[in-house]
Amino acid sequence: MVVAQATGAASLTALDAHVADCFACPRLVAWRTDIAVTRRASFRDQEYWGRPVPGFGPADAEIAILGLAPAAHGGNRTGRIFTGDRSGDVLFAALHRAGLANQPTSVAADDGLALRHTRVFSAVRCAPPDNKPLPEERDTCAPWFRRELELVRPTLRVVVALGAFAWAAWWPAMIAAYGVRPPVPRPKFGHGAQVSVPGAPVLLGCFHVSQQNTFTGRLTPPMLDDVFGRAKALAGLA
Ligand code: SF4
Repeated sequence: MVVAQATGAASLTALDAHVADCFACPRLVAWRTDIAVTRRASFRDQEYWGRPVPGFGPADAEIAILGLAPAAHGGNRTGRIFTGDRSGDVLFAALHRAGLANQPTSVAADDGLALRHTRVFSAVRCAPPDNKPLPEERDTCAPWFRRELELVRPTLRVVVALGAFAWAAWWPAMIAAYGVRPPVPRPKFGHGAQVSVPGAPVLLGCFHVSQQNTFTGRLTPPMLDDVFGRAKALAGLA
């Protein structure tokens, strides 16, 4: 079902519509629905999205930012990836400083945010408990990610993987979408790590913009500025 719908999507618009209507993973469907009903106290008066969260950004992006999965009270609430939580606050502020977003904030799907040259999406499209999708959920969701890559492939030059999960999810997607082989052994994730495989976009590693990383100073705004500056240069935008 996921494979057929993903491979049959002729455009990002069609893909996004199919993704938002996916019910393939029983545990994640139950979780996203339950979160949308119980809600966090501070958002009790809001209607949660409670569904899979599609990618966001222009179809002709040169840079992709690959995350893990939507946050329970962020993307799962607002319906837009990295929107409405602290991780998104950090990410979109950095994209704005880099000239890749028209505003530094991302609070709701209708807040006017627009990305330039950049599309943001996640390896898994539903919020998972404890931010940990099961391997079978990752694999079930992979066709959405791979089809998205195929659709942005004509312009895509650089992929920024946020965290080790996204870094690991990149390799099978790269093989499927680009038909090229990764280095052996596969390069390890690290902040600032860079891998160039002929025929595929350059891969850059970046610590995830999670509160755990940003509150502790493991990931700082200058570190993000460095990664996005490099991404722009590699994409021919600087
Ligand atoms: S995680 Fe992916 S495959 Fe599973 S229900 Fe959500 S969108 Fe569908």
